[in-house]
Amino acid sequence: MTDIIHLLPDHVANQIAAGEVVQRPASVVKELLENAIDAKASSIKLLIKDSGKTLIQVIDNGIGMSQTDARMSFERHATSKIKSAFDIYALHTKGFRGEALASIAAIAQVELKTKQENQDLGSIIKIEGSTISLQEMINTPKGTSIAVKNLFFNIPARRNFLKSNAVETRHIINEFQRIALAHADISFSLYHNDNEVYHLKSENFRQRITAIFGDRINDKLVPINETTDLVKIYGFITSPKFAKKKRGEQFFFANNRFIKSNYLNHAVTKAYDGLLSSGYFPSYFLFLEVDAKTIDINIHPTKTEVKFENESDIYAIIRATVKHSLGQYNIAPLLDFNRDTSMDIPYKFKDSIKKTPSITVDTNFNPFKNEVNSQRKEKSNWESLYTDTTIESQEFTKFDTNNSDLQMELFNDTKDTHQIKSLQIQRKYIISSLKNSLIVIKQNLASQRIIYEDLLTKITVEEAVSQQLLIPIEIEFTKQDVAVLFETKEELENIGFQFKEFRSDCIIIDGIPTTIPQDKLVTTLEEIIDSIRLETAQENFGLLDTIIKSMAKSLAIKTGKILNLKEQEEIINKLFSCKEPNYSPYGKTIHTNLHFNELEQKFN
Ligand code: ADP
Ligand code: MG
Repeated sequence: MTDIIHLLPDHVANQIAAGEVVQRPASVVKELLENAIDAKASSIKLLIKDSGKTLIQVIDNGIGMSQTDARMSFERHATSKIKSAFDIYALHTKGFRGEALASIAAIAQVELKTKQENQDLGSIIKIEGSTISLQEMINTPKGTSIAVKNLFFNIPARRNFLKSNAVETRHIINEFQRIALAHADISFSLYHNDNEVYHLKSENFRQRITAIFGDRINDKLVPINETTDLVKIYGFITSPKFAKKKRGEQFFFANNRFIKSNYLNHAVTKAYDGLLSSGYFPSYFLFLEVDAKTIDINIHPTKTEVKFENESDIYAIIRATVKHSLGQYNIAPLLDFNRDTSMDIPYKFKDSIKKTPSITVDTNFNPFKNEVNSQRKEKSNWESLYTDTTIESQEFTKFDTNNSDLQMELFNDTKDTHQIKSLQIQRKYIISSLKNSLIVIKQNLASQRIIYEDLLTKITVEEAVSQQLLIPIEIEFTKQDVAVLFETKEELENIGFQFKEFRSDCIIIDGIPTTIPQDKLVTTLEEIIDSIRLETAQENFGLLDTIIKSMAKSLAIKTGKILNLKEQEEIINKLFSCKEPNYSPYGKTIHTNLHFNELEQKFN
């Protein structure tokens, strides 16, 4: 019998490991920036070309590496940061797996230059696909520069899988922001295709937030500061007045490391209960400091998901602390007789250092259950039972329709008279009857579908029509939003936008698609930026589609708009001339039908 098991060669093992560590250019950015921080750099420069697809380079002024270490750093499991498994439980560095450089060198062309302070000469190493092609002494400044070129050059499938430049740039900027926020004392700069995107000097946290998100955020920040024996919490939340319609800037850092946690996010959101209308989100920038022994950051290779030993206690403390700060700033309702007593917990915590915290935590608590929403729903049902004010037309009125054959079939009872009967209720639905059934159409979704298909035809079949503006419009955006728009320029121009200039924090537009009324311009652009940023499922359908969908959403007739009969008729007509009248561009059901037979049965 022959043996068939063999060990994988190192370069293959490294490539496989790379699959976990390096998903996209932004992953490389994260690893290189973290290494620079671990190397105690006080100034870090990030250079990107073509959204990281051509070049990602990080230059730091940190401790550098000896000649041997420079060579060693590309070996798998080569790390200077831990010596035994035990060290993982008292970690004070970002890295510790010793995997990043080996993985990156397996799937890109890497050039490393590094020098320690006391050396005369430094080292240069060139390595590509895990093979070293050059190692020499070189004159180079103190610190380290790592240039990663042509990521995934040897794995075409991965390279082709990368998203549009706008999306990849967005990911890079996200990583950069997270790291820059966690280290306000370090100065950072970011250049994309030789344009300066950020230049952040060493500063305090508040200044760093403002430097990244713009001066306007400064007045909205409410400080948080709480020390208990389990966790120290500090940072800023935003006043509910400034909550955003979209999930805003939400950052948690645990021991100076950006983390994602739906559970803790829920704690913050809960603290805003009753202060935010549904669909609004607060921004927050919160640092948690816990004993390194009580946090496990080892559960995910990219280290953004962590496990806290005292998670539910931390939940309660965060919620109470945020609520308290909102109150202190006279933002929360002054008197709340139904006050949740868990609000008092952190102060007990503070006083009873040695005792086991007498905390009551609901163990059945499900962070994903949305209590606020269910309360709201109840209310609107209640309203609809007792109020009739939303019926806009008290009787079915008859009016003329246009000709479409499809329509003739649909509305066969009106065939002879060319008339549609319809009724709007709750400023939300249009009720009408088809051949065999009653139909209820959700006006907002129908309108989204109509506009979506209209835009699609305009772009794919007809030439996009642009309306030239007499006076160009200047719109302020954050730097990263400008970057997203810039990367999406071509697609936006196809739709009919004309850009005069992109500045670092504003854009100047001199033409807009005729489909967009001027007063909707800003909200539509924001919607487009957000949808690219959120990269929801639509990511796969391409950028243009994402843009069109968000435009359709932004321009659609909203729930709450009273529609006269003519407008109702227009929606019905246009909807049923759509290619896909059943679902909104985002896949929601537009209308529901009740067959007359079914209706009849209800009276048996
Ligand atoms: P890890 O960060 O998990 O230790 P990496 O593969 O990222 O693993 O890096 C391997 C080693 O290379 C690090 O432990 C560190 O000693 C060294 N190194 C990497 N980047 C730098 C840098 N910018 N400056 C100094 N040393 C570095
Ligand atoms: Mg590392």
